[in-house]
Amino acid sequence: MFNRNHNLENTSIVIIGSGTAAVSAAQSIRKYDKDIEVTLITDETVMEYSRCGLPYYISGVVDKFENLVEYSIEWLKNKGIKVMTDCRVKSISPVSQTIYFDCNNAVNSLHYEKLIIATGSRPKIPHLEGVYKNDGKLIENIFTLRTNRDAECIKKIEKGMKVVIVGAGLTGVETAEALSSKGIEVSIVEFFDSVLPSVFEKDITAELTKNIRNNGIKLYLASAVKEILSNGEMVKGVVVSAAEKEIKMNADYVIISAGNKPNSEMAIEANIKHTESKHIIVDDHMKTDMDNVFAAGDVTAMYAPYAKGYVAVGTGSIATRQGLIAGANAIGKDEKFNLPFVNARTTQCFDVELAAVGASGFELDNNKVKYITYYYEGDTHPRYMPWNRKVQFKFFLNEDGQLLGAHCSGNKASQRINILSLAMAKEVNIKELHNMEFAYAPAVSPVLDPMYIALTGLYIKWKRITAYQ
Ligand SMILES: Cc1cc2nc3c(=O)[nH]c(=O)nc-3n(C[C@H](O)[C@H](O)[C@H](O)COP(=O)(O)OP(=O)(O)OC[C@H]3O[C@@H](n4cnc5c(N)ncnc54)[C@H](O)[C@@H]3O)c2cc1C
Repeated sequence: MFNRNHNLENTSIVIIGSGTAAVSAAQSIRKYDKDIEVTLITDETVMEYSRCGLPYYISGVVDKFENLVEYSIEWLKNKGIKVMTDCRVKSISPVSQTIYFDCNNAVNSLHYEKLIIATGSRPKIPHLEGVYKNDGKLIENIFTLRTNRDAECIKKIEKGMKVVIVGAGLTGVETAEALSSKGIEVSIVEFFDSVLPSVFEKDITAELTKNIRNNGIKLYLASAVKEILSNGEMVKGVVVSAAEKEIKMNADYVIISAGNKPNSEMAIEANIKHTESKHIIVDDHMKTDMDNVFAAGDVTAMYAPYAKGYVAVGTGSIATRQGLIAGANAIGKDEKFNLPFVNARTTQCFDVELAAVGASGFELDNNKVKYITYYYEGDTHPRYMPWNRKVQFKFFLNEDGQLLGAHCSGNKASQRINILSLAMAKEVNIKELHNMEFAYAPAVSPVLDPMYIALTGLYIKWKRITAYQ
């Protein structure tokens, strides 16, 4: 039975947000304490739903939005949690331990003993000519994808319409897949020369790039949307600059998928420590540097040893686990991330599974970190098996033989990366890692698993390079 910390009698805990981090925090509190007063306050009207499932709702794979709702308002209320929807928190006063929020056009305040900030992030809108109307709002028919409301708008786009997606990040590519599956004409314009550029290495996304194009999507890489053409209200087209020439495209809709930024303004105004990218810094207990204030989810950054610095959280899996920890610690438990943060991530779109952990070459170059890199393409099964396919790996290793990052594309990519995620977190050196044992059966893998061959290749390269240093 939970032994209540006496200092926490009558504690009132306030959670800002209603995404997975916030609701996981509330759940965690209730797991340990059935009575403590908890208020969850959000500017949304629907309780926790899977944002990750929104592209599947748009395509129709998920037939009802309600199927994406994981925890309803009723569920929380039944647990004795006070829920305030459609209320936007404006500021925090850490001195008086008060939050100020807008509800029904009135400013209200709420005292907290412990505060959990789980405000997530929102889509970035790049500075494009013609993106806003005279009243400062987005031109009609320009959408982003973050909320159920966004998904409802995008879902209404009909066959025969032309859509331009700005940015080939995860949301952009997943939205493109959802729309093209419904016969909608989709073009994607990406500034960098590869798809999913901030998440995966270029050679790892080659198969995906091919499949995007084979699905009839016009993909413009190393190209930028310069201007959105409209009649002041409705989108008519876009102007794209590519390889020193300009292309004018007709468009009925524009979907902007150019990355996210954290909803951290109120935390920053309250002087809570944050990164340059404005993510709230949390420790392994989800504590901020402000007394009695915790944070969890996409609004945060955590220390990642592979990066020797703070890395922004951007995945539902980590947000959920952070929320559980923040909730427990807000009522005086001592829970923490027991393994270092390695940022494992995955997706599957256009029939390609991709996964990665740790850094990419782009990030390492930016941070001026020296590394050894190795690329390998192998077979997923013996060549005599009809379902044999290709799988690609790319690794980044430091001179000491520690993995800094691994990327994989193909069959079971996420399972392979999950193994490397543990290896990275436990700092298994390539000397041991390449000796890892793999199970074998022709229906499952070749006698030498492709990851075994890839890691051995990496090990040999590392030995050769470091032998002369
Ligand atoms: C289309 C899409 C696909 C995705 N796919 C994947 C995937 O496959 N795998 C994966 O791991 N992750 C995926 N993600 C990312 C994942 O959804 C996020 O990491 C996760 O939702 C973050 O949860 P959170 O609780 O931190 O933030 P959010 O879910 O963003 O919740 C924050 C909440 O706080 C509210 N809020 C913000 N500011 C205020 C304020 N001032 N006052 C009151 N309320 C406020 C917001 O309205 C929101 O309800 C995807 C995201 C999208 C959009």
